[in-house]
Amino acid sequence: LPRPLKRALAGILSESELRLLRAGVDAIGDICILQIPPELDARERDIAQAVLHQMPYVRAVFKQGGPISGEHRTRALVRLEGQGGTVTSHREHGCIFKVDAERAYFSPRLSTERWRVAGLVRPGEIVVNLFGGVGPFSILAAKRQPACTVYSIDINPVACELAAENVRLNKLTHRVTVLRGDARQLVPERLRGVATRVLMPLPERAREFWNVTLQALAPTGGVVHYYTHVRAPRGSDPIQLAAQELPPKARAEILGGRRVREVGPGWFEVGLDVAFREAVLT
Ligand code: SAM
Repeated sequence: LPRPLKRALAGILSESELRLLRAGVDAIGDICILQIPPELDARERDIAQAVLHQMPYVRAVFKQGGPISGEHRTRALVRLEGQGGTVTSHREHGCIFKVDAERAYFSPRLSTERWRVAGLVRPGEIVVNLFGGVGPFSILAAKRQPACTVYSIDINPVACELAAENVRLNKLTHRVTVLRGDARQLVPERLRGVATRVLMPLPERAREFWNVTLQALAPTGGVVHYYTHVRAPRGSDPIQLAAQELPPKARAEILGGRRVREVGPGWFEVGLDVAFREAVLT
């Protein structure tokens, strides 16, 4: 929990209640989103008031009404305290992202991973982001590597509108192109064989998109950033489990793997950096 929030809640929640809330607070721009576990339902107003009171930059506090779901990866938000809606501007690594926390996916928790990936892009690269959302990975890559070109695809029209606006806000219109539609259609139509790097940040379903990624890769190959959710019982290695999801026939070499975050008890989001020496067009 952010320190000021912890201090504020220490007065109204017990140690064990605080632990229940631990993984469930996200600050995006000037709003705060809480995942309130059922045990704390009755305390939600107290918690929201404490957040508003103790974190002066927070304008409104929302609770997540259900899980992130559907093809667009969105969630319902209910305002508990404060004013205004779910649209806000979030700053990250010198970039600004306009976000609608209800109608398009955005997570501030992936900030370190985005910065890491952006730092790997070399001059002259062409990056294809199959699941670009409101643009954070795509924009950060273009900002950090001034001699690369990025294509940022998303199927959610709201995400695409925000991504296009974010590209303008960050002055990258000459190098980041937002494409609205299904990656399965757009890649074969417009981006076949162009990419030196492909991003696959849809951990629930990325494994269904290997064909699309291999189509996007240049004939000389390239690097893929693959994200997946794996269930790793105690004693097993989540990275090895994720590696089993690579396409069987392609010549792939795992450059590195890491747990990006814990997404549930025993479940991890794993990121793999994978080099394909030559593209296997399917
Ligand atoms: N990369 C972004 C980020 O980190 O904020 C967004 C990642 S979000 C987990 C996954 C995104 O994939 C959603 O915005 C969703 O609309 C999009 N998506 C889902 N299926 C898709 C498809 N078939 N083609 C293109 N985008 C898709």
